[in-house]
Amino acid sequence: MSRFTEELKIIPKTARIIAGFAYVAAVVFWILMFLFSHDREMQSLPEAGKIAVVLLPGVILACYVLLIGYVNGDARRRGMRYVMWTLLAMFIPNAIGIILYFILRDPLMKPCPGCSLIVRPGFTFCPHCGTSLRPTCSNCGKAVEIGWANCPQCGTKLPGVGPAPNPIG
Ligand SMILES: [Zn+2]
Ligand SMILES: [Zn+2]
Repeated sequence: MSRFTEELKIIPKTARIIAGFAYVAAVVFWILMFLFSHDREMQSLPEAGKIAVVLLPGVILACYVLLIGYVNGDARRRGMRYVMWTLLAMFIPNAIGIILYFILRDPLMKPCPGCSLIVRPGFTFCPHCGTSLRPTCSNCGKAVEIGWANCPQCGTKLPGVGPAPNPIG
């Protein structure tokens, strides 16, 4: 639950305000519809149905606005093109822009262990203080992965990995 509320904090304030207004506007609109419409089907709804018709569209609208706000804040935090993603989330119908965003979003940026500046995933060195963020080859300096025995770029033997065990003996 705390992680969920943490995530909600990245929704920009503007999006929360718009969501609030959208909710109130939708509720007022449907109350007015019930007061002034002479549609028999609407008037014959049971009380619970009337309450649902008044409240639900506002809830859905507010959730939609908050999701777009989340896409905006999350894309910004991940160093992605957040303006483009916000527009896609807003204008591609049926929330397909939002779904696409969750499929395609970049991994979260992490703080550098040296200077705690937020760095983009995939960086080998911190652009600010130069701390090594991933293991590198001592010969050519290219990033290598833990468990690799040789550098794929220059063929240098990597330390920390013994010779592969021979199953035949
Ligand atoms: Zn750093
Ligand atoms: Zn190398």
